[in-house]
Amino acid sequence: MAYSKEVYEAVGAELQRRRADAERQASERRARMRRNPRVVELEHRMASSMRRVAQVVMEGGDRVEERMEEIRRENRAAGAEIARLIREAGEPVDSFAPVYRCAACEDTGYVSGRSCACREALLREYAAEELRGWTGMKLCSFETLDLQFYGQEFDERLGCSPRQAMEDVIRYCRWYGTSFALSHPNLLLWGATGTGKTHVSLAIAAAACERGANVVYGSVQLLLRKLEAEHFGRADGNTEQILLDCDLLILVDLGTEFATPFYTSALYTLINGRMLSGRPTVISTNLDAKAIYEHYGEQIASRLMGTYEPLLFVGRDVRQQKLQRRLHEEG
Ligand SMILES: [Zn+2]
Repeated sequence: MAYSKEVYEAVGAELQRRRADAERQASERRARMRRNPRVVELEHRMASSMRRVAQVVMEGGDRVEERMEEIRRENRAAGAEIARLIREAGEPVDSFAPVYRCAACEDTGYVSGRSCACREALLREYAAEELRGWTGMKLCSFETLDLQFYGQEFDERLGCSPRQAMEDVIRYCRWYGTSFALSHPNLLLWGATGTGKTHVSLAIAAAACERGANVVYGSVQLLLRKLEAEHFGRADGNTEQILLDCDLLILVDLGTEFATPFYTSALYTLINGRMLSGRPTVISTNLDAKAIYEHYGEQIASRLMGTYEPLLFVGRDVRQQKLQRRLHEEG
């Protein structure tokens, strides 16, 4: 599994920082405790035990084993007393040994020359972080979504006003983000340009992130281009794995890219792979069912139509209305 050079470097630096932190905390703990003369005395006694063992061995005689056991017992007692004194001083850890975040590799990132699970987790985390930065994910909230841009006149097709319809959609999306779980359904946000799909999908991303989910957000066009560059060796990275593995993948603006056989197959791999591993995906598009069939063919269309919950975004173009209102206010 390959990541970009920057990701490896960042993970290496993070592990080094963790290790240095653990060691610094241990030496600070020891320095604080050495203000107690009893601790210094006990440490001195423990340090001299090696010399005493050597002496006993050299002197020989028939009580060697017995005398060695006595030294070991003294050592254990001194160690236990130091631990007790540290505990009594209110230190969080009752030892002078560094406490590493990962006991398996002691924050070196390697166990017997193989990459430790903690390092692998960091690599995935940093790579997802890199991708988020790369796709320009900026977070929006449901609070900043202005419902007054959706019309209040009754719409026969909807059976209510666009504003009422959108209130339902937004309530549902808010629930989706704030209670995000892997068992959540896939969503297909569809509707004309400027009806708030991007804002809502970013708000879902923000809410799910806040719940601790690993979310990757990006435009279909940008992500497919990145997959293509990596596939043909023009860039390094492991975007496909990140997109398949993240808890929630949000793909916006499906249908704006120029369909190529590579794009179609990459998209199918993502949609199908995530479906098989039970990880939810949110896709926004202004294509209707017929256009999705025409654009991507049967395989992708049937997945989207069969396993995604469609949410229709209605109302006049929010951006147009905002612009008109600003012009009106300024004029
Ligand atoms: Zn580890």
